[in-house]
Amino acid sequence: MRPALFSDPPREARPRRLAGRVAYAESPAERAHLRRLRRDLSEATAQESFVLHYQPRIALGSGEITGGEALIRWPHRRRGLMAAGSFIPVAEQSGLITDIGAWVMRAACLAAMTWPAGVRVAVNVSARQLHDQELLRQIGGSLEGSGLAPERLEIELSEAILMDDNLDTLLALSAIRDLGVGITLDDFGAGLASLDMLKRLPLEQIKLDRALVRTLPDDAEDVAIAQAIVDIGHALGLGVVAEGVETEAQRCLLAAMGCDHAQGYLFSQPLPEEQFHLRLGALAVAGGAAA
Ligand code: C2E
Ligand code: MG
Ligand code: MG
Repeated sequence: MRPALFSDPPREARPRRLAGRVAYAESPAERAHLRRLRRDLSEATAQESFVLHYQPRIALGSGEITGGEALIRWPHRRRGLMAAGSFIPVAEQSGLITDIGAWVMRAACLAAMTWPAGVRVAVNVSARQLHDQELLRQIGGSLEGSGLAPERLEIELSEAILMDDNLDTLLALSAIRDLGVGITLDDFGAGLASLDMLKRLPLEQIKLDRALVRTLPDDAEDVAIAQAIVDIGHALGLGVVAEGVETEAQRCLLAAMGCDHAQGYLFSQPLPEEQFHLRLGALAVAGGAAA
């Protein structure tokens, strides 16, 4: 899908997009599956039985690891280790995301305190978490509880946040930015974000969506779009991160475009905390790729 860079998202696109984010069940079997998942997730939330994996973020210029993105995993007794994509929509829909998000924020800040001072931690935040003052309190509490400097924390907002682009969202984000915490617009170029958002939201960075990166360097139009996003980001004083970088050709092209940072399987999968620590031990990553 092409990014709707030059206009606001069409209104009729919103309900469909929303419907895609909540896990709609069609058949009785699917509904039963969802009920079980919700019940298990509620138990897991009460017991805080999640783990965080960290995916290294690499500076394309130096090849150094400058940050780690916290990605939640749920070790399920029957289903094995579940990736975020398979249960976060259910957590959002059921409201459990507020408690899960609080745990993630605390755990990520505590972990980052054990990393070298130049390495930041990025925490994903759902649109629903931004709706009340709770997120600001959670961030403040986690920073205070861990002793992490606010400049070492970033939150990543998916563009779904843009569907609730109102004054409250803006105020909540500004209050977070005022703490000194960085804000990254995740999945940029995926379809809904407009250029206007880039100047209205108090952002520090934008993250090029994996769907756009995937077609590089072969798709000439996507190359042009990616270059335009890097240039616009820089012109607005924003850093640009590319996600889902899987090939050396993508890394070379993004570096040549002037993209600042990259993440993806080429460098590393998301790693359990101890392995991320080991990776940090060798801070300079030869040639930028250490897979
Ligand atoms: P995201 O923030 O855009 O994270 C990137 C997703 O792509 C992750 O999936 C990651 O494992 C995967 N990925 C990373 N590099 C590559 C690559 O090179 N190729 C491919 N094919 N995939 C790659 P994951 O962990 O399943 O997370 C999915 C989404 O769930 C995240 O998208 C984020 O929006 C959300 N999420 C993850 N952790 C949390 C959390 O703690 N809280 C909240 N609210 N949302 C979270
Ligand atoms: Mg993210
Ligand atoms: Mg993303």
